[in-house]
Amino acid sequence: MEKVIIIGTGCAGWTAAIYTGRASLSPLIISGTEPGGQLTTTTEVENFPGFPDGVMGPELMMLMQKQAEKFGTRVEYAAVTAIEKNEDGTFTLKTDSKEFQTESVIIATGARPRHLGMPNEKELIGHGLTSCATCDGAFYRDVPVCVIGGGDSACEEADFLTRFASKVYLIHRRDELRASKIMADRALNNDKIEPVWDSTVSAYLTDDEGEMRAVTLKNLKSDEESELEVKCVFVAIGHDPNTQFLNNGIGVDLDENGYIVKINGSETTVPGIFVSGDVTDHVYRQAITAAGSGCAAALDAEKYLAERE
Ligand code: NAP
Repeated sequence: MEKVIIIGTGCAGWTAAIYTGRASLSPLIISGTEPGGQLTTTTEVENFPGFPDGVMGPELMMLMQKQAEKFGTRVEYAAVTAIEKNEDGTFTLKTDSKEFQTESVIIATGARPRHLGMPNEKELIGHGLTSCATCDGAFYRDVPVCVIGGGDSACEEADFLTRFASKVYLIHRRDELRASKIMADRALNNDKIEPVWDSTVSAYLTDDEGEMRAVTLKNLKSDEESELEVKCVFVAIGHDPNTQFLNNGIGVDLDENGYIVKINGSETTVPGIFVSGDVTDHVYRQAITAAGSGCAAALDAEKYLAERE
């Protein structure tokens, strides 16, 4: 029987592991399908305190893992497919190949990038449709590409893509960016970035080989449609929380957008299950706030276990 199992290895998960490890709870952390979480798909993180010269996202995650392992965290590379509640108030966590028993759980499964819901989306992923400029940007040298979205992610991706692409169209559904001023200014002052205001993408168009060739743009003010030639579309329109493994109705409440509800500190509606990071936070969604909430969940789990004894 484990004392605590942490699900997810982003900033929230590793921080919860560092704290529960230091509390001698010997945490087991289950990696999820994307070990390291969303920071492994970013480049430089400039706003994590303690790194005045910035730090690469994947490096930051490796450092967090190293720190967690130093305090006795064990890692299982798998994805949790279900949580069940046992009669004595403990939990069974299932992965494809194993089952684990634990007295408490910290959910830190994060969120995944959202897509537009086009019919040919699935076939196009990896063929000119992606959400990760860091992963795929370098494949599109000296060709036009576009980014969809108007937030910090869209501006960051667009800026990064100018290292490779001949031109980056930034397609936004309004005429004002949602991004913070510093990120918006950086994008709008970049000569290689051309904003396309008040517009959405209404179709992805492919060539004979099934690769992205162009998008159909729809101007939301005039309703006019036009074609824009791009070799890759980078979608940056926000995220959905990763809660699929809660589908068996264990009693963890979700809000109307699917984020896990916290009722008391980091406790969920099921005593013994705690939550941290982007899977419960649709407001701040920063590496540092995720880390902070991972710490809070660890302290709450520690208190719960002490009271249980
Ligand atoms: P976001 O702030 O929620 O922005 C999503 C953007 O996509 C918005 O501009 C939104 O348009 C647009 N959008 C949403 N659904 C759409 C749809 N169906 N069709 C077309 N456009 C759509 O998400 P984000 O940019 O991923 O940022 C998430 C959080 O992470 C934010 O708190 C952000 O500050 C943070 N972040 C920080 C950094 C950094 O500081 N280095 C980098 C990346 C992200 P509207 O504006 O019209 O709603």
